[in-house]
Amino acid sequence: MAKFFYLETFGCQMNVVDSEQIVDLLGRVGYQQVDTPEEAGLILLNTCSVRDKAERKVYGHLGRFKPLKDQRPELIIGVGGCVAQQEGEKLLEKLRYVDLVFGTHNIHRLPEMLAGVEQEGRRRLETEFLDADTRRALFPERSVSDAVTRFVTIMQGCDNFCSYCIVPHVRGREISRASGEILAEIRDLTARGVKEVTLLGQNVNSYGLREAGEMSFAQLLHAVHEIDGIERIRFTTSHPKDLSAELIACFGGLPKLAKHLHLPVQCGADPVLAAMNRGYTRAQYLEKVAQLKEVCPEIRLTSDVIVGFPGETEADFGETLALVEAVRYADIYSFLYSPRQGTAAAELAETLDPKDKQARFDRLLEVQQRISGEIWQGDVGRVLPVLVEGASRQGGAQLFGRTTWNRIVNFAGPAELIGRVVSVRITTALKNSQIGELEMDEVRAAS
Ligand code: SF4
Repeated sequence: MAKFFYLETFGCQMNVVDSEQIVDLLGRVGYQQVDTPEEAGLILLNTCSVRDKAERKVYGHLGRFKPLKDQRPELIIGVGGCVAQQEGEKLLEKLRYVDLVFGTHNIHRLPEMLAGVEQEGRRRLETEFLDADTRRALFPERSVSDAVTRFVTIMQGCDNFCSYCIVPHVRGREISRASGEILAEIRDLTARGVKEVTLLGQNVNSYGLREAGEMSFAQLLHAVHEIDGIERIRFTTSHPKDLSAELIACFGGLPKLAKHLHLPVQCGADPVLAAMNRGYTRAQYLEKVAQLKEVCPEIRLTSDVIVGFPGETEADFGETLALVEAVRYADIYSFLYSPRQGTAAAELAETLDPKDKQARFDRLLEVQQRISGEIWQGDVGRVLPVLVEGASRQGGAQLFGRTTWNRIVNFAGPAELIGRVVSVRITTALKNSQIGELEMDEVRAAS
């Protein structure tokens, strides 16, 4: 008899990939995914603890499911991801209607845990970290899909311990997946029609460094570039301190590598960067940006910036603004600093009141919005290669795809173009996407 599950995912791409693994595992034991919790016999939340007050939000969110459990006591409710890792037993103690809690290293155990709950009615908790060899053997193969673009996990965990970040505490130490396995998976994906891969890890730039005899990340990019059928390669996330000369050179020498790099700076002032334990100075960061622009003049950078880290002075913030002006990021993701329990920075006293923090945030946003507007508006009138990913949400005969800079472009065109790189003239730049027109020779080729 078919069983139905409902899954909600919060947070970053790592969680999205973990959720795909969950869908795959549950499919193998006879579960089908549904769109509403009301239809499901199993409700799962894959949680994220990066954002402010994440634990509290998860508790609040789970509360929505309690009435369903009251009506249907056989309903199984489970929590995974970073908050589950962090809270562990506390979650089961506080919420009597939650049946299972699984950590970031325990996703593969979900079917067994579920069987325990279903058959014995026992509540289950598994949050222990696994050793590196066991984890290496457990990198998930991606489930089959008809997507044009896929994430491929190449490493897990992080050893950097940036002082504000919870990730090393909830995802464990850094391990790299064997390059042979990664390349085999990508070959398999291309055979199924995938045209673009995004190599994924918390800090892909240090890929292979801790594994004897393994390739460097730059060498891995070269090997992926050799695979027939791959049209475009992306990767995320990059730590500036591990952005090697060899890797920078890839942007000049590998045509399939997208001309976009997300290179989180976090702050433009050295004292704050040191307090964040970022491992680079402002000058070192800017030097790497200059090298990137030299080997690849068309490259566009995006970044993360934290505003109001403890000790950030007005002068420090001014340095951040100046750096943002100097680099001219295509976009930034800016965050108001807030402490994460269990991190080193949580011990530091906050030095800015919330109003001043918000005022700095707003100033940064204003600067970035101007720069982003100029950059995206500058594409209007240009004909750009766009990898077509599918039917647009706009409906009708609209398609959507992405430029090399990871910008979504919506345009009219036939479905036969899905999976192809086509030439699109950009006609309008919106805040988060662009609108374009297919070049006439593309229309003729498709008809
Ligand atoms: S590099 Fe720093 S910010 Fe990124 S996941 Fe690791 S500790 Fe967190």
